[in-house]
Amino acid sequence: MRYVSTRGKSPEVSFKEVLLRGLAPDGGLYLPTSWPQFNVKELRKVLGDNFSYQALASEIIYPFTKDSLDKDELSELIHRAYDSFSAEDIVPMKRLNSKLWIGELFHGPTLAFKDIALQLVGELFENQLQKKSENITIVGATSGDTGSAAIEACRDRERMEIFILHPHGRTSEVQRRQMTSVHSENVFNIAIEGTFDDCQDLVKGMFADVDFSTRINMSAVNSINWARVMAQIVYYWWASMQTTDNGIVNFCVPSGNFGNIFAGFSAHNMGLPVERFIVASNRNDVLDRFFRNGEMELRDVAPTYSPSMDIQVSSNFERLLFEVFERDGLLVEQAFKTLRSKGTLSVSDDILAGIQRKWASSRVTDQETLAMIKKITEEYDYVIDPHTAVGIEAAERHMTQLQAPIISLATAHPSKFPDAVEEASGFSPILPSHLSDLYERKESYEILPNDEVIVKSYILKQRNGE
Ligand SMILES: *Cc1c(COP(=O)(O)O)cnc(C)c1O
Repeated sequence: MRYVSTRGKSPEVSFKEVLLRGLAPDGGLYLPTSWPQFNVKELRKVLGDNFSYQALASEIIYPFTKDSLDKDELSELIHRAYDSFSAEDIVPMKRLNSKLWIGELFHGPTLAFKDIALQLVGELFENQLQKKSENITIVGATSGDTGSAAIEACRDRERMEIFILHPHGRTSEVQRRQMTSVHSENVFNIAIEGTFDDCQDLVKGMFADVDFSTRINMSAVNSINWARVMAQIVYYWWASMQTTDNGIVNFCVPSGNFGNIFAGFSAHNMGLPVERFIVASNRNDVLDRFFRNGEMELRDVAPTYSPSMDIQVSSNFERLLFEVFERDGLLVEQAFKTLRSKGTLSVSDDILAGIQRKWASSRVTDQETLAMIKKITEEYDYVIDPHTAVGIEAAERHMTQLQAPIISLATAHPSKFPDAVEEASGFSPILPSHLSDLYERKESYEILPNDEVIVKSYILKQRNGE
């Protein structure tokens, strides 16, 4: 299996390079040169009755990584990655009614769906680094969920150090504590006196400083890394196989960077029958507007109750565009050039009509989000987080137009966003037992000014253990 860049100007590479490099040298994102094919019937034959999530994951992921890992080795990494999950079946499926299922993606150590990918990516990194006898320094910026999931995935690993920059005083308390209460020799939290965009610019600046980034062997775990999308493909097959025999389903996904739902589209390209993908957005509706009128126009980001979806540019959207443009990298490059220079990108009416045969979308306001949390609590005695509520609202709006049942993905545990849940339902959800003392744990982090020189010298000093 080889990988190509969505901008078409980089040489094809192996999985190992895709994993450790992240972004392609031409600025594009990596995708496999072709989609391995599966079907539900064959998978059932191979896996037998009552198969585990881990067994399915080994089957689905193997073709993507087989140049770098044999199947037993892969299976061992997968088992280790999901040992830290509190639900035995990793992604439990909950039926709300005859047409609506919930896929619970939040049973990992940090209570958001990002653990499913990052726990495995942590194992894959360590495996490849050991083989190469190499060490890396991961530097990342976070506005919330990615930072804690990355820290949990990398903590205590020998061949990596991880530095996570968060905007000082601008993350939720649960999110901050999940990062800053991890006391491990290879984990460093930096609170930057600035915004999330400042943190991201600092990381970009450090990557661009080739002397610095080479010296520390800098790497990233952000959501453009193919390995994260790859790990997420598994639960689309799982959800479908747990809820129907060999039948068709719909998926509704609360979306931000478009990584989660693109994994679903990848599963579909691999042979999973899907009637429609429903993209759920909050007030920051850049994706919803694109799927309605074929035009992506950038606007300012407004804060909402579902902060992990508060984005302006969905980086993984580039992967969909590459597929829609029949893998013509030059067209993708032109489209993104126009987006950068003019703030807008559009596709032809024909292409839009093609997209709309498989994709639908909705925009959900904060008020509708709170109302949905309340409604689901009252009707089903089931507590959901605000991101999940955005998804269910979108799913319900599309339900009457669709034949097959909808699987709506629950991307965070309600206790991760207690304020919104309390405002909607009147009570505060409690943290699961492994985090029940989170508010008492000692925190440690370094507060630094928004200054690249100072942040770089801090990183160098810590790496040398001074
Ligand atoms: C990251 C995140 C999302 C958005 O997922 P994308 O893959 O970026 O579309 C949605 N909900 C929660 C809780 C998240 O942490």
